[in-house]
Amino acid sequence: MEEKNCIVCGSEALVQLNMDPVKYFYSCPVCGRYEYYVSFAELTDFDLNHLGAYLVYNGFKESISEYRYFSTMSKERCDEYKREFAKGNVIHGNPVRLEVENVENWYPKKFSEKVDHILLYLDSKILHWGEYIKLEKEELFSCFFVDRYDYVNGNYERRSESALKSQAKYMMRYLKKQELIETLDSVNGEECEKPISVTPKGYARIDVLQKNTANGKNVLVAMKFGEDTKKLREAIKKGITEAGYIAILIDEVEHNGFITPELLKHIRDSKFVVVDLSHQNNGAYFEEGYAMGLGKPVIQLCKKNVQLHFDIAQKNTIIWETEDEIVDRLKNRIKATIE
Ligand SMILES: [Zn+2]
Repeated sequence: MEEKNCIVCGSEALVQLNMDPVKYFYSCPVCGRYEYYVSFAELTDFDLNHLGAYLVYNGFKESISEYRYFSTMSKERCDEYKREFAKGNVIHGNPVRLEVENVENWYPKKFSEKVDHILLYLDSKILHWGEYIKLEKEELFSCFFVDRYDYVNGNYERRSESALKSQAKYMMRYLKKQELIETLDSVNGEECEKPISVTPKGYARIDVLQKNTANGKNVLVAMKFGEDTKKLREAIKKGITEAGYIAILIDEVEHNGFITPELLKHIRDSKFVVVDLSHQNNGAYFEEGYAMGLGKPVIQLCKKNVQLHFDIAQKNTIIWETEDEIVDRLKNRIKATIE
């Protein structure tokens, strides 16, 4: 490992270069662990400005014990390594595929949504009320959704330091003016370098946000996972992604039919749930019931000629014959029924 600057945020990071295929593995204090294969996807396939924010909010820092990291390698390879990891062969770690659609669907489009994210981020960092924390410069830029780059002639060029700081200051001033945060003004330095604390008004906003996590973009998919349902899984994922949401698929390796606290949390945090009942899978029935109990919208799918459990047979269901028809029908159903 050598020390080099992170290609996304510019922080000093540890980098490992592998040849054949050419692969860079970064461990960045701000973006966490990620790798990219030059042959599969250039990082320039991503909007680097959006990716910086995505990674600070969703990345895998060194402190996370399960060896997770983002990777741009093929989905098949990711799945293979995950299966190996679940079996105890940890040599390749536990990759999570980094996908352009997920980054874009996650990225908050509205200013107010960005503000909400920032508050939740600060809350996750500040352990005690009234405490001031200082975010390092690059962490602050990523957390504050600062655009670091201009895209010029197919290349990302980093904007001047003062341009970046002025964006960060703008956000800082707004948050203070709204009385959501305070800064420790006795500390010398520029406005955006001062330690930050959340105000009582800020915490009131955080409380509301935490109750409404379901206003996000996540959608849990409940179905049977396995080799035989790969095509179905991809079709459902594509339908959800094309409708502008992020499909959460708890893999067969992590799931194994057990209802884990993590799975229940994913359901609680989902805006709605998509369930495929073609395989008479008990887990999927349970997950649907749990989601309905929480008042979440549920979109049901089922293969033609499969007998549904009578309790939910009346519910409006997308009956499909081939996986190919699922993408458009699911996308349209989401757009028509979920606001
Ligand atoms: Zn970084």
